[in-house]
Amino acid sequence: MNCWIGTDEAGKGDYFGGIVIAGVLVDEKSLPALRELGVRDSKKLSDNQIKRISKGIYDACLCSVVEIGIEKYNDLYSKMKNLNHLLAWGHARAIENLLSQQECPLAIADKFGDVSYIENALMKKGKQIKLLQKVRGEEDIAVAAASILAKNKFIENIEKLSAKYNMELPRGASLVEDAARAFIQKYGFQGLGMAAKLHFKTTNALPKEPLTTPDTPVPQSAAQPSDNPQSKIQIPQSPVPTSKSSIPNPQSKIQNLQPQPIQQGLEKLWAPWRSEYIKTTAHKSNSCIFCDNKLYIIIQGDKAFAVLNTFPYNAGHIMVTPVRHVANIEELSPAELSEVFTMVQKCVSKIKDKLKPDGFNIGINVGKVGGAGVEGHLHIHIVPRWNGDTNFMPIVANTKVVSQSLEETYNLLKE
Ligand SMILES: [Zn+2]
Repeated sequence: MNCWIGTDEAGKGDYFGGIVIAGVLVDEKSLPALRELGVRDSKKLSDNQIKRISKGIYDACLCSVVEIGIEKYNDLYSKMKNLNHLLAWGHARAIENLLSQQECPLAIADKFGDVSYIENALMKKGKQIKLLQKVRGEEDIAVAAASILAKNKFIENIEKLSAKYNMELPRGASLVEDAARAFIQKYGFQGLGMAAKLHFKTTNALPKEPLTTPDTPVPQSAAQPSDNPQSKIQIPQSPVPTSKSSIPNPQSKIQNLQPQPIQQGLEKLWAPWRSEYIKTTAHKSNSCIFCDNKLYIIIQGDKAFAVLNTFPYNAGHIMVTPVRHVANIEELSPAELSEVFTMVQKCVSKIKDKLKPDGFNIGINVGKVGGAGVEGHLHIHIVPRWNGDTNFMPIVANTKVVSQSLEETYNLLKE
């Protein structure tokens, strides 16, 4: 086999922090580099080795890292009630994302459940490859490389979480109770969902109230997206279910331990495909999705083109971009400006005609701080909006729906 993908996850056995799933594509070119780096099972490596080897893997291979932060993890777990579905979704996303950049006939995942979990979560491209799930998958060098990337990102995330809450959050699941108690003392039991996996047995043993009033209010930033504001959309808050904690059924208690929205009147809606997209493309510093990857082009002009966003906020999410790789709006020539905006006009009128939205969001994010996912190449987002559309957005990882509507949308708009 001259090309294959390995995937693995980190964090599923850790009480604190979310989970990370990574995929690495290995081919004849990158294989010697991985061997030279000393890639092997991450469990046999120190944190420093993991950090150093990760850098080398990013340089040598096409990589995809899918992060599910702890708050979203708790949210999704409370809905799915099955960690295997959540993991499968992450593995499938990592695989699909690599396949969108390079064809490859085989993927190997470390075994965590029935192989059908991942198969069902795969989309069009992933369905065409051979998928193997292996016990001790880390014996495969691609899986080992993925385990290193996942572990490295997980460690980074735990460190960030520790800094955010100003306390050392331990890894693993056995010696975590003291830290969990200290966390509750500081941020209240409700706050625990911002740091720990609530469905772990450890949670049952914890006091449901701080012993005294929490000494620090929950930081406001805890409700903010940790990475990129673009990956979250604010929607009106749905009514918070009333607590049933008086019912002495441990299961129903756990269901009610979901983190409460901290910002009054607002709740974050997670768009997982967005954040993953942003993080994955960031790893390939020398490639540009607009210059190198022109899958769903709607209109191709001399100086501008319109492309369907493959990780959309909504059906019909289009991006209009200059042909020239330019980061700033002030760098555009008058002719480019004119063609770009004429194309925006065309797209809006075509979407109105074909998809009949109730409104639009049209905008440009400039620079990382501005929320730009692809910083180097200016692009204008056109997002059609429907009354109540947030209810339909597949926040619970129903990626198949997005994929199908993407093709439908493409065919509809392309004509
Ligand atoms: Zn570009």
